[in-house]
Amino acid sequence: MSRIKKLLSIGFISLAAILLLAACGGKESSSGTSKDSKNTLEAIKDNDKIVFGVKTDTRLFGLKNPSSGDIEGFDIDIAKQLAKDIAGDENKAEFKEVTSKTRIPMLQNGDIDAIVATMTITDERKKEVDFSNVYFEAGQSLLVKKGSAIKSVKDLKKGTKVLAVKGSTSSQNIREKAPNATVLEFENYAEAFTALKSGQGEALTTDNAILYGMADENKDYQLTGKTFTDEPYGIAVKKGQSELVKEINASLKKMKSDGRYDEIYKKWIKEDPEQ
Ligand code: GLU
Repeated sequence: MSRIKKLLSIGFISLAAILLLAACGGKESSSGTSKDSKNTLEAIKDNDKIVFGVKTDTRLFGLKNPSSGDIEGFDIDIAKQLAKDIAGDENKAEFKEVTSKTRIPMLQNGDIDAIVATMTITDERKKEVDFSNVYFEAGQSLLVKKGSAIKSVKDLKKGTKVLAVKGSTSSQNIREKAPNATVLEFENYAEAFTALKSGQGEALTTDNAILYGMADENKDYQLTGKTFTDEPYGIAVKKGQSELVKEINASLKKMKSDGRYDEIYKKWIKEDPEQ
């Protein structure tokens, strides 16, 4: 009898412990959910900063300067001006590194408030995130070693290795445009360019704007052929954050009309923006 009592009391204690753990777990996840469902714009005002997901290895758009530790580029300057208009001070822009593959999951997790990272607006992505108006027009192209026999996508034949980055539109598009070529995927653009330089493939494909940065860094490489897609860049926020999208669009409009946009464009792209 006493043995049964003992077993019953152990069972009871275990049950109580399980219920307690479940209650704690429930509490945590419910506070997480309430944070998630919160209006991002309100959160920005409360936290007094905007956390932007940006590239840190993409010359001209978002590149970490190894001596200062600062991230520099077109996207970074645009993000700072968004912070100035929305949060009152460009220093209220905080930056977190994203790659093409991690940017949407990081936004969904609440790690970042917005993505400003060479991101093309596509119908597929619109199912997962909301976009601002277009703030930059790029197009997909190819980067090859000078003297390469590859002159355009038509030259990407069976056996040709093309390098691309995971999670990018470039990686998807090239499979349609050059279905016989072999596509090798890398985590980010620094890795893909290193692979091209070490001869792991004959061409690297992504947006012309990104490839210009690579060609500028290493004069042995050049863009080849015309652009073969349209890649309109947008700033992405969590789905349903219409207030924030409105503020971002108003800020983009303001920076275009008061000259800040042209100044940033000329600083990084070194051509006049197409009107
Ligand atoms: N703009 C393209 C994209 O959104 C390629 C650049 C990138 O990988 O970020 O996928």
